[in-house]
Amino acid sequence: MRSIGSSLLLALAALAFSTPAAAQEWRMVIHGGAGTIERDRMTPERDAEIRAALSHALETGAAVLADGGSALDAVEATIRVLEDDPNFNAGRGAVFTAAGRNELDASIMDGRTRDAGAVAGVTATRHPISLARAVMEDSPHVMMAASGADAFSLEQGLEQAAPEWFHTDERYEQLQRFLSRDQADASDLAGADYKFGTVGAVALDMDGNLAAGTSTGGMTGKLYGRVGDSPVIGAGTYADNRACAVSATGAGEYYIREGVAHEICARIRFLGETPQQAADFVQAETLELGGTGGVIVLGPDGDWAYSFNTAGMYRGMIAAGAEPQVGIYGDE
Ligand code: ASP
Repeated sequence: MRSIGSSLLLALAALAFSTPAAAQEWRMVIHGGAGTIERDRMTPERDAEIRAALSHALETGAAVLADGGSALDAVEATIRVLEDDPNFNAGRGAVFTAAGRNELDASIMDGRTRDAGAVAGVTATRHPISLARAVMEDSPHVMMAASGADAFSLEQGLEQAAPEWFHTDERYEQLQRFLSRDQADASDLAGADYKFGTVGAVALDMDGNLAAGTSTGGMTGKLYGRVGDSPVIGAGTYADNRACAVSATGAGEYYIREGVAHEICARIRFLGETPQQAADFVQAETLELGGTGGVIVLGPDGDWAYSFNTAGMYRGMIAAGAEPQVGIYGDE
């Protein structure tokens, strides 16, 4: 007969070696815009700078997720980093409107509750993604626009920024080129060269919750009041634990008409498609309308995809136990 002491020891050993309920493996996928991004148009310095910026953003989100933080917090933290980076068309470094202003759009969605928040045409908030989250959490609304959203930002005590903060010479010169373009190019308003750099993130946390967010300056030379797909829930951003999280980047006029982000989630949910199948299908249909761009998609089981029909898309992925990856061109 075993003594009580040895039984206790056996019980303790069993406890020590029993595996706890497996925590969900976390993952994050990001993009920094899609467009005419080709090797021969990039300097090695710029290539390295973009890769470093994407890696830094991924590490920011990974730190939140690896610590057991929520997908929502990871998405917001990652996008804040990209908004501060002048390499991207969001926050600092945003493109200019035809009137020479920076008007910013952003949205965020929680896949657990399907709560969502969005802002359009805001001009004075350093991190529009945080303003979108404030709309979601601290207002009774889903979307707020222009001066009203700017006022709400002040009221919420979010960090404000002067117009100079958002201004970069490169984007301003892009506007001058756009304004002096040949009228034959007028149809190129949606042209990839005039906008790329929108940022987005999708994340899956250890609790199995998904979230998605997108932030942008929109398109160079956009007209007064123009709003793209990025702040439109269901077009540029969508998250639903039952299906997937999506962030899109591309010619907003087409992404809105296709309802890209929701359409991808609906195909996964109702047709049982994988993220790659659903993303490729919806991207192809959007292209039929005339819309170029790309999406990142992440499912509740960690399955994920990039899909783009432009020459390149700034992108990256990081996950528990996997090598982080970043990419720029279509052939890598
Ligand atoms: N989708 C953005 C917009 O139309 C632009 C982009 O993603 O490049 O405002």
